[in-house]
Order: sequence, then structure tokens, then C-alpha cells
Amino acid sequence: NLILTDVDDNQAISEFLSRLQNAVSQPILIKGVQIKTTISIGVSFFPGDASNAEDLLQCADSAVHQAKDIGRNSFQFFSSEQHRQILSRYQMGNDLQQALVNNEFELYYQPKVCAQNRKTLGAEALLRWKHPTLGFVSPAEFIPLAEDIGLIDKIGHFVLCEAARKGAEWFQQGIEVPIAINVSAKQILDRNIAHRIINELNHEGLPHRLFSIELTETSFLHCLEETQATISTLREAGIEVAIDDFGTGFSSLSYIRNMALDVLKIDRSFLINIDSSDVDRKIVASIIQMSQVMGLKVVAEGIETEVQFELLRELNCDLIQGYLLARPMPAAEFLDWYMNQQE
Ligand code: C2E
Ligand code: MG
Ligand code: MG
Repeated sequence: NLILTDVDDNQAISEFLSRLQNAVSQPILIKGVQIKTTISIGVSFFPGDASNAEDLLQCADSAVHQAKDIGRNSFQFFSSEQHRQILSRYQMGNDLQQALVNNEFELYYQPKVCAQNRKTLGAEALLRWKHPTLGFVSPAEFIPLAEDIGLIDKIGHFVLCEAARKGAEWFQQGIEVPIAINVSAKQILDRNIAHRIINELNHEGLPHRLFSIELTETSFLHCLEETQATISTLREAGIEVAIDDFGTGFSSLSYIRNMALDVLKIDRSFLINIDSSDVDRKIVASIIQMSQVMGLKVVAEGIETEVQFELLRELNCDLIQGYLLARPMPAAEFLDWYMNQQE
């Protein structure tokens, strides 16, 4: 980190930074190889941007990221827009803490149906946060934030308890729809997660076969052995484990084989164009074939049209999930929908 004192003129700072970048980017020879380095610089001001060293560095850091986005060898001043973003993230973090206390979370349920006969074979529980002033905030936004600020375990606990409770309630009414919850990559690092899940199901009296978890590929990046042990414990207890958003991460075949999973969910991005793109259709066909060779059931997610549905049925996909069949719905609405399908 570089501190410039007694400067308040942006022009002078810009000139200084250009000279600095020029100096650094001079090629140097190392063992006969010419090396050229470039630097990206982020600038923040005291006391305008922040009043203490830690925040000041964070502002500069944020500006560096923007400089890198723009292109290598550039510099950026921390802007008020970035300031706003940091503030709103901070505010959102606080609100998220409150959300648990104030009961602002609710699980919605989206059906997964058999590709051959459209029977409902399961439901995915998706978390919804109704913010008091902003309305619904997308989980794609607040889940990563919850992971960052250490709230994911509490939120995950809510999801587990709520889904298990609802599943048990339905089971007691004679409705056997397996429920899947999403478990984040951070949660799976908790060594006790498998036992926590099993205990919760036992506590509610929900048979294990009516519960499953979905993990994204990033879950397999860290602590492989522990993750493997967690997955084994769950599967031995009769709880299915799915890999979610397959194809968007590193999609390692060896991990999938070694992990011994039950279900593979093909990410929506591969399915959007299967009606128009020959290549996409072939990719999906091979993912399905490969999965089935490894003994995995395949779910296609985000299906919105009959054409897509029909293509996937022909390709022998096992299960389909998407707006075409139903959007994620509050529990009561899901139950109505399900009952209607049974008639
Ligand atoms: P996901 O697990 O892959 O969930 C599927 C997402 O696709 C859901 O978005 C769902 O509403 C959406 N979707 C379903 N069918 C269609 C369709 O036909 N078209 C389109 N465009 N979208 C469709 P949602 O509910 O916004 O959730 C986004 C992501 O947030 C989830 O992706 C999941 O990774 C995460 N998430 C949601 N709930 C939880 C949770 O309880 N815990 C954790 N850890 N993550 C969650
Ligand atoms: Mg999922
Ligand atoms: Mg997914």
C-alpha cells in the first residue's frame, strides 16, 4: 500500500500514478526471458471516503477491482457509487440478521415431475425473503451475502427445520412427496451437518426417503474427504444427494464418480436452447447418457416450453422441473396444485 500525503489535486495524483505504472511496466530480463508486469491501482481519500485505516483500505480495494474490470494497467478512484454499494450491502447484512428474528423467511415449493408421465415425484424447497421495504429479495443475492457474513448456518437451519416439518405434516396426511433442500458449499463444511439433518428428520418423524439435499459443484472444492464422509453418512441413512447446477462449475467427472451421488441436475443454461441448437442438444444428450452410466437420476431444471419438455423426454431424462409445470409456490398453494394433479 502506498500513502500519498499533502495532495488534494486529482490531476497531480493521476500524473503520479501514470508515472508509477510506466516505471513498473518497463520490461525486465530474468534469465534471458523478458518479463513485463502491469499494475492496477485503486485510490481512496482520507477523510472523504473513510475515517479509519481499515475502511480506507477497503475502499481502495474496491476501486482496484473496478480498475481490473476496466482493463489491466489502469487506475480508478473510489466512487460514490461504490460507496453506495458497500453501504447497501452492509445495510442488507443487518437486515438479514433481523429477517430471522422477524420471521421474514418462507419456503416455496416447486414440483419435479417424471418426464414420461408427468407424475409429481418430488419438490424443491426454495427460500424466499420478504424484505419489509424492498419486497422479495432473490436468494441468488442474499445467500452469498449470508455466507459472507456468517449467517448461512442459521438460515440453513431454518430451511432444514421448516422443510422437515412441512414434509412430516404432508406425510401424516398420506402425501408422500420427497422434499429437497439446497445446502450451501459453506454449510457442507460443518462436520455435524449430516447428523443434524438426520436428527431433525427423526425428530419430525419424516422417513428419510422423503428428504434429499442439493449441493452445487463448489461444495466439492474444499475439504473433499469431509464432504465425502458427510455425503456417505446421508446416503447410508437413505437420504438422497443431488449435484445442482451441473455444468456451471468445474464439472469434474472424477468427483462425481468418487462422491457416489444419486441425482444430477443439469443447469438451465444448457437447456434454454436445446430446441434451436444442435450442439446444446448433443451436450445434454451426452450428460444424460453419462449420468445414467454412473447410476444417477437426471433432472432438467428451468424448463419453460413444451418443446423443451418433449426433447428431454426423448433423450430419456428422468425428471423435469420448471415454470412450464409450475413456479415455486407457498406450501399451501403447492399442496392444492399437487392435489389437483392427483385427480
Ligand atoms: P437452484 O437450487 O438451482 O434453484 C433453481 C432456481 O431456478 C430457482 O431460483 C427457481 O425459482 C428457478 N427456476 C425454476 N424453474 C425455472 C424456469 O422455468 N425458468 C427460470 N428462469 N427459472 C426457474 P431461486 O428460487 O431464485 O433460487 C436461486 C438459487 O438460490 C437456487 O438455485 C439456490 O442455489 C439458491 N437457494 C435458494 N433457496 C436456497 C436455500 O434454502 N438454501 C441455499 N443454500 N440456497 C438456496
Ligand atoms: Mg437447487
Ligand atoms: Mg440449480
